[in-house]
Formats: sequence, structure tokens, C-alpha cells
Amino acid sequence: MKKLLLPLLCTFPLFASVHVTVAYPYIGELLKAVAHAKVEVSVLASASSDPHFVTPRPSYIGELRDCDLLILNGGGLEIGWIPPLLNQAHNPKIIQGSVGYLDLSTYVKMIDKPTSLSRAQGDVHAEGNPHYAMDPYNMAILAKVIMLKLSSMDPANKNAYHANYDEFVKHWNVKLAQWDKTMSPCRNTQVIQYHELFSYFLNRYGIHTAGTIEPLPGISPSSKHTIEIINQIRTDKISTIIQDDYHEPKTAQFIASKSGARAIILAHDVGGENNTLDKLFDSMVEQTCKP
Ligand SMILES: [Zn+2]
Repeated sequence: MKKLLLPLLCTFPLFASVHVTVAYPYIGELLKAVAHAKVEVSVLASASSDPHFVTPRPSYIGELRDCDLLILNGGGLEIGWIPPLLNQAHNPKIIQGSVGYLDLSTYVKMIDKPTSLSRAQGDVHAEGNPHYAMDPYNMAILAKVIMLKLSSMDPANKNAYHANYDEFVKHWNVKLAQWDKTMSPCRNTQVIQYHELFSYFLNRYGIHTAGTIEPLPGISPSSKHTIEIINQIRTDKISTIIQDDYHEPKTAQFIASKSGARAIILAHDVGGENNTLDKLFDSMVEQTCKP
């Protein structure tokens, strides 16, 4: 009964044999693509959360206590909020190193790994840039990792997981070709980002990040740095400022008003209007590379 009273965090397929908790909505979408209704999925963060510092709800500990598999973005992205919840959940099935602990970052190539660890480098991302999920090409890799994990934990449904994965990849390849085409005119252009949240997306399509509104990762904008960015945009004729949807946009808007660049706000996860992976990347592509 307790479970039935939980909010819309969960779906309850009949006879689900694996109960999975995932950190972020995009992982939940990959899981649904691979498993359809064969697993019970709980998603912790929402699309509007700052992914570095998700505010835990009381239900999170129960979700972690009851699940068989925890899937994380990893790469240090959850370091500010998941470890204390895991300590409180006391679920040996999902502790680091166990079968039920899946860190997706170990299957992708992370960029911007710092050569020295010092607070002078900023407050977050000691392991490199963890926002690799913003590269749509990584989605098929992650879907395969999830498919293999589910197949090993629930071999009775292995064939279904494989078939669903094949169907996902077939569809995803069509979308990748569309996005490649739409983004191609923007190769070799430059943008300013608030935080290096979209670096993998931009790198994929040959767009250079010329600077960030935050002076260092996790550090709020300063007047001095803001003026430097305005001057840089004017000198280098940079046309676009990319702002995430969880930081205050007023600095980006101020820089836009002083420099003539356009400021766009991009979603970084599935939710709201962008309630599928397709829509999330469609919106990133359409907004970033206007014809
Ligand atoms: Zn970050």
C-alpha cells in the first residue's frame, strides 16, 4: 500500500522483475526504450533540477531502499546529492561495486579532465566534464549498456530487451542523421555558455565554446568577468549565448543586451515540453542552429 501512495515518480507494470532507480530523467527514458513495461522505474531528479545539486525529496530514500538496480550518470555529477541518500538507504544491492550499481560514465569518454586538483579550478567536476549525455551520439552507447545490464539481471526477458534496443537504435540513427544535417551550417562558429553544460553537444557539431559566463565551474558571475565576456563577444563577433534553464538568466540577458548576441535557454534533460529524448535534442538543435 505504501508504494501505491507514492507520487507519479513511478510506473507500476505488472510482474516487474527488476526495480530500477535512476538519477536523471534521460536515463529513465533510455530504460523505458529498452525495457518498455518490463521494469519498474523511479526517476529521482526532474528536468528543472540543477543536476549538480538536486534537492532530495523524502521519498528518495525509500526508492533507493527498495530497488535492485541504481543507474547513475556518474563522473562526479551526483557527488553533491546521491552519496548521503545511499548512506541512509542501507541497500547492499546498489552500493558501489555491486551488481546493482551502474555508473554510465565509465562507458563514455569524458572531456576536460583537470590535470591538477585545486579549488582554483572551481567548485565542481574534479573528474572532468560529466555532461556527456548532451552528445546525442552517446545515447545509443548508453542504451546498449542498459540493455546488457538488464539482460544479465533478468535473463527471462533478454530477447525483448535486445529487440527493443535494436528498435531504439534504428530510430535514433534516423534522428542523428537529421540533427547532423540541421547542425552542419553552424560548424566552426563560436558560442558563450553559462556553464560548460552543453560542451559535448557543441563539440559534436564543431561549435567552439569561446567562454563561460561563470568565471570557473560552479562559481557565480562577477562584474569584471561579465565585462570581459561582453568585450570578447564584440571583438570576436560571437552571435549566441547558451544559458541553462536552472541558473538565473539575468547575466546572460544583460550580456546579450550589451553585446548584440542572442541569448537562448536550452533544456538539459527530458521533461515539460521536451517530454521525450527526441524532443529534447530537437529543441537543442533547432534553437542552437537557426537557419
Ligand atoms: Zn556541470
